[in-house]
Amino acid sequence: MLPVTPDQTAPVPLVPWTNRYRQLPATLMAPASPTQVANPQLLCFNSALAAELGITTADWTEDNLAAAFSGNRPLAGSDPVALAYAGHQFGNFVPQLGDGRAVLLGDVVDRAGQVQELQLKGSGPTPFSRRGDGRAALGPVLREYLVSEAMHALGIPTTRALAAVSTGEAVQREQPLPGAILTRVAPSHVRVGTFQYLAARSDTSSIRALVQFMIEGYYPALREAPVPGAALLEAVAERQVALIAQWLQVGFIHGVMNTDNMAIAGHTIDFGPCAFLETYRPLQVFSAIDTQGRYAFTNQLPLGAWNLARLAEAMLPVLGDRPEDAMAWAQELIDGLEGRSEAAWLGGMCAKLGLTLPADPSTTPRAVDPVDAALVTDLLMLLEREQADYTLSLRSLADAGPADTPPSPHPLASGAPPFAQLLQNPAAATAWLSRWHKRLHALGHPPQAVRASMLARNPLYIPRNHLVEAALQGAAEGDLRPWQALHATLAKPFEVQAGAEHHAHPAAAHERVTRTFCGT
Ligand code: AMP
Ligand code: MG
Repeated sequence: MLPVTPDQTAPVPLVPWTNRYRQLPATLMAPASPTQVANPQLLCFNSALAAELGITTADWTEDNLAAAFSGNRPLAGSDPVALAYAGHQFGNFVPQLGDGRAVLLGDVVDRAGQVQELQLKGSGPTPFSRRGDGRAALGPVLREYLVSEAMHALGIPTTRALAAVSTGEAVQREQPLPGAILTRVAPSHVRVGTFQYLAARSDTSSIRALVQFMIEGYYPALREAPVPGAALLEAVAERQVALIAQWLQVGFIHGVMNTDNMAIAGHTIDFGPCAFLETYRPLQVFSAIDTQGRYAFTNQLPLGAWNLARLAEAMLPVLGDRPEDAMAWAQELIDGLEGRSEAAWLGGMCAKLGLTLPADPSTTPRAVDPVDAALVTDLLMLLEREQADYTLSLRSLADAGPADTPPSPHPLASGAPPFAQLLQNPAAATAWLSRWHKRLHALGHPPQAVRASMLARNPLYIPRNHLVEAALQGAAEGDLRPWQALHATLAKPFEVQAGAEHHAHPAAAHERVTRTFCGT
């Protein structure tokens, strides 16, 4: 470790912190401080997010940022803790996991009035480290930074990335790798596994406290609910179903949807072996550790419901005064999730096809028409049969809708190749396209409005696996430019960007990534 001069160790003021989490029962956490690293160097800092959080670091040098966001220099007023949680990992219950390589620094209220927690990830061992070293490698840190920010730009609730700092130390995995630390920002780090941790200890009073805490910070509409636990469970289920439906809209495969990786506040968390679909295959799996395909692409909706059933079990003591009634109520909620999931997913897909347009506040949302549902499922079957790229196919449909009469002078182009060209057999497109046109005509949506809505819902750029791998490979070799270029493109996924054509292309055969790794 390099010597640290005295003034570099003085706590640095960053923001007026609170640490609301510390109000919770002590069983849910353990004090834990970051362990100093040898030579922190700033890799990336998210100034726009800092501004949203009210963090004013504009006059900070890169060295100061690196010292603060590696944990080398304490942040004044921050009193870090590691969080306890349990979790079902690939179906097996582990009663104690917890932040083994992360510490919660504290929370701030952002410009929108929402609580946001700041966490260092990879900052050294904690009381929950078990056999782990508490560290993170550069690749997974930059991967989480890139993909979480891309998800945010896609409009999907997610943890965010504020900073990435290399440590100047190696972490020992199968081989020594450069180490790094991520500053993660999320409204909350409470997971399904946090409730399971308390349930495994039969700690009902702490479960009640956690319910109140989550309602207060993240579900304020439920403050007056007669049975707070039941109201919270139902609302969490609603958000999770909507979230996973959004993942499916963009072809995201989380890869490790264990109950310790499902956030109660309803955002995407943990970007370990995640990946994006290229060729449309409903049962696509990338994660090397998902050997059974448990978290395959379309399995994510039922597995989300499975996780929520585990949450219901953990919350059972707070779902009502009479256990039998509570059990029956929870069972009904869980049984209904499949239908809710299907409806949320289908609703999103109809919007992607321009079959529903952004809601006019005067119209009530209509249930999905069977004609529209068939258009969606038949399109997906077509894409699967024709081995078409999911993202580009949907994007290209914005150019393939009914034409304006009179023709509009400058229709916005999607930036994707023509739909038929994306299929192995271009003639296979005709029948489906004509059914889709007929339906749009019958619905009476103006072609221009359909196109504009489709361009705003079908991204041109997603973090394609081969691009992510190449960017991380470059970073490991000391060249951050490919990572920075990809990060910049992914900030505007719905806008055609000159010079970024290669970021829209599917992998060539020799570039294709078939396996992704946790890299923990
Ligand atoms: P994850 O697969 O990232 O969801 O992690 C599962 C659990 O393993 C969590 O409790 C992590 O904190 C813990 N963990 C992962 N990597 C490490 C590490 N390098 N050191 C200590 N704990 C770790
Ligand atoms: Mg995790």
